[in-house]
Amino acid sequence: MCFVPYIESRKERFRACNCGEDHDIRIIRGIYHYAEDKHTIFCVGLLEHKGERHIWVSFITGEWPDTNEQDCYITSHIWSTSEGRIMKIENSESSPFESSDVFDCYPVTRDQILAVDGAKGWFIDTYLSLFKCDDEIGGYIQN
Ligand SMILES: [Zn+2]
Repeated sequence: MCFVPYIESRKERFRACNCGEDHDIRIIRGIYHYAEDKHTIFCVGLLEHKGERHIWVSFITGEWPDTNEQDCYITSHIWSTSEGRIMKIENSESSPFESSDVFDCYPVTRDQILAVDGAKGWFIDTYLSLFKCDDEIGGYIQN
């Protein structure tokens, strides 16, 4: 049998963006089952700044190495340029998420994410798979 990834308990809402301008950010959260017996809670933010669309993706990871924290989240930012789509691992604190959006977890920094072997690769595989699974998230940025 072939496992088909799916999202459980998908919920979304809009709230004011924290950038100071008068527009909303759309927050989508749920549990993403990406492999047999493997899942992660995600928080995705869809927003438009100056006519450009941005996606922020955070995954709740549990304990993260060298943070001394049990409940952590890691973050990336995806946007489009004339050369194609860019994905960048970010400091979680720089995301547009409020701490309640990410279940009051600890914001892992970019350096702490990149310090862990395989973390970036896992992040890329998992976000691409999530984008394939959810048309609204995956289709938000066209190229
Ligand atoms: Zn904004």
